[in-house]
Amino acid sequence: MFKYRIPDILRFVYPKAVWRCSSHERCIYLTFDDGCVPEVTPKVLEILENERIKATFFCVGENVEKYPLLFEELRARGHQVGNHTYNHLKGIKVSFDDYLANVEKADRLIGSPLFRPPYGRITPVQMKALRDRYGYKIILWDLITNDFNKNLSPSEIMRNIKRYTRNGSIVVFHDSVKAAKNMLAVLPEAIKWWKEEGYEFRTL
Ligand SMILES: [Zn+2]
Repeated sequence: MFKYRIPDILRFVYPKAVWRCSSHERCIYLTFDDGCVPEVTPKVLEILENERIKATFFCVGENVEKYPLLFEELRARGHQVGNHTYNHLKGIKVSFDDYLANVEKADRLIGSPLFRPPYGRITPVQMKALRDRYGYKIILWDLITNDFNKNLSPSEIMRNIKRYTRNGSIVVFHDSVKAAKNMLAVLPEAIKWWKEEGYEFRTL
């Protein structure tokens, strides 16, 4: 059993995080985590360009440091970027200070007020500090595609996208090598379906 939609209990634990945008409008928010990497991110950019869609990329600081031109290209093409820590750190595994230092290190490379904790794992105290003291907007998600899961086929992922997409959904894909096979197979088909269903694409 794979989770696609975030359980309500978690939304209750983190009430100030953003899970979903307006439920009154037929729109969704595409997000891509864990890039930017030269093997995958340019392919995503090409798909989005052809479909005239802007998305939000939650980049890992280390990747931005390694591939600064690719990161610049993301922004030059009008996409939004967000902070996903410097090296994909799990918040519940490290001290408060280490976590904040890691996020700040990524911020010097990425420079965005949007933050998404890797694995969605962050303590309420860390989240509160990032939000209240550092002014980050914490973005989680309404629908995670599980594209990184090699036990899932593109058609299974597609079926769940159709089942769980709703107005205002923030949708997570991964522009990572691990997820590439599933993600690149599903993304064009999902975009086609969302367009047929009348969804508009927005950035956060
Ligand atoms: Zn991640």
